[in-house]
Amino acid sequence: MRYIVALTGGIGSGKSTVANAFAALGIDIVDADIIARQVVEPGQPALAAIHARFGDAILLADGGLNRAVLRQKIFSSPGDKRWINNLLHPLIHAETQRQLALARSAWCLWVVPLLVENQLQHLASRVLVVDVDRETQLSRTMARDGIGRQQAENILAAQATREARLAVADDIIDNGASPDAVKEHVAELNQRYLALAAASDRD
Ligand code: ADP
Repeated sequence: MRYIVALTGGIGSGKSTVANAFAALGIDIVDADIIARQVVEPGQPALAAIHARFGDAILLADGGLNRAVLRQKIFSSPGDKRWINNLLHPLIHAETQRQLALARSAWCLWVVPLLVENQLQHLASRVLVVDVDRETQLSRTMARDGIGRQQAENILAAQATREARLAVADDIIDNGASPDAVKEHVAELNQRYLALAAASDRD
């Protein structure tokens, strides 16, 4: 079986930064957020099903999914939330497996922000958590997304806690350090994962 390292972390912790550093070393990346968008693109059966259930108000003028309206539906109706999850989770899972199977590097990085929230850790060979202290996480999120402290705090509060993430970690990358130090740690982890992937191939 392909050796898969799941990369997770809270908003603004540095998942994209770390994933880019692995990609620069030639590691193939499968991104859960991209897959979640792909399965509801225009032309996909899931978007047709959502349209059939919720009507034209669920679509933008260009035919794409109106995420703000969908979020509101999910927020206000547990039944709608269940329906959407039942529709999308199997599709996301199948597309994830398809993309992981296509990966050609010796091991593959699966970037999955909601790993802990959705209890997906069993699907990976190993879990790597990007960790920063709360203040750093808040200030980087505010700066990147141009949002205020309260909004950033609300997003953090809706996510798994730092402790819950660290509890499932096999490896932890401290992204409070300088970008250069992080790159060095990424290179070390890559060596370790190459060795682990080679060992699992021999099993
Ligand atoms: P995530 O993908 O987890 O939401 P990002 O990788 O986008 O987080 O990082 C959040 C912000 O912090 C980005 O603007 C990024 O450029 C910045 N950043 C990430 N790592 C570092 C670092 N080690 N030092 C300084 N800034 C960083």
